[in-house]
Amino acid sequence: MSKFFSADDEDIRKGSTTDVYFQRTEEILRNKGLLDTHTCAEFTVSSLPEGWPWAVLCGNEEMVRIFEGRNVDLYALPEGTLFTPRSKKGIKLPVARIEGPYGQYCSLETPSLGFICYATGVATMSARCKLAAAGRSVLSFGVRRMHPAMAPVIDRSSFIGGCDGVSSLKGAELVGRPASGTMPHALVIMMGDQREAFKAYGEIIDPTVPRVALTDTFWDEKTEAIMAAEEMPGLQAVRLDTPGSRRGSMIDIVREVRWELDLHGYPNVGVFVSGGLDEGKIKELVTAGVNGFGVGTAISNAPTVDFALDIVEKDGKPISKRGKFGGRKFVFRCPDCLEFEVSLEKERPPVCSCGKEMVWAEVKLLENGRRLVPEEPAESIRERVLRQLEIALL
Ligand SMILES: [Zn+2]
Repeated sequence: MSKFFSADDEDIRKGSTTDVYFQRTEEILRNKGLLDTHTCAEFTVSSLPEGWPWAVLCGNEEMVRIFEGRNVDLYALPEGTLFTPRSKKGIKLPVARIEGPYGQYCSLETPSLGFICYATGVATMSARCKLAAAGRSVLSFGVRRMHPAMAPVIDRSSFIGGCDGVSSLKGAELVGRPASGTMPHALVIMMGDQREAFKAYGEIIDPTVPRVALTDTFWDEKTEAIMAAEEMPGLQAVRLDTPGSRRGSMIDIVREVRWELDLHGYPNVGVFVSGGLDEGKIKELVTAGVNGFGVGTAISNAPTVDFALDIVEKDGKPISKRGKFGGRKFVFRCPDCLEFEVSLEKERPPVCSCGKEMVWAEVKLLENGRRLVPEEPAESIRERVLRQLEIALL
């Protein structure tokens, strides 16, 4: 049992975090001898939050892990797929599909949804911030706004979505890059003086760590920025985390700091902004000459994506609830323009509106509970996301 108020791996794997109505369903079906009926169920979402036209699928690896060892087959679009909730013809797009006796996965519906709903929201918001930053660096700083048990999944999902670095030690370990960060106001306060803090950072912190100084603790941003450039050899950037009560126009603060650094002979020192940023604010600040962004709550508290899991086939026959499309479907995608279509037949690929024949887009991840593909590193999933973002923007 976990010491903190979080479920441990075993709780999650055995279904202890599931909604009670699945437990009751299992009990009834077991009594009636129906628990092992063969089914096919699909993960779909009707629409995306905040009118997003697309989302970045994330959480597949944890889905594989929870269904591993259960007698099911699992198919999904590759993790990091930029998907639309519906195909070009308006059919709800299955992002993943599970096939097998219903009792094998009934109690895991809640946790498997939790894996992809949250991670997909975070990865999508991260991708949107990365796009808004127009090529500038975006770091994920939001772990402090969520339960610490979630730090690794927040950082992995935001990295996959396009963030260039993550701040937590555990998250960095998971994505395979050194953790990113600068210095907190606490360091400046504890040192008692900005100049002393900048000097000490330069002296003590490993030289491979990028030199970025926080320059808004006691004095004006542009004054502290020059102090940092004078005191910290090899200063790469200053970070502005200006409190809301002092912001006025953040764009003008950035412009002034940029001007002052140039004026004093530090044109190579960049300006990095953090504190209350979201995609809209990032877009505004890009025009003022910001070189990088630290995004916290907007990413870690991204809207969750309302995926649902629905049975679409029972005993080999199509069936579905109202509002869902019955029958086992196969997802196809155009390799050129990334459009999706679904088909009931795997052997007959639909033709895209661009004229190109689409290709089957799903990957078979589990067969009878046995893993068919190795875990994909976060770095390569992130590259897939960035490649699709480039095509989507053309
Ligand atoms: Zn096409």
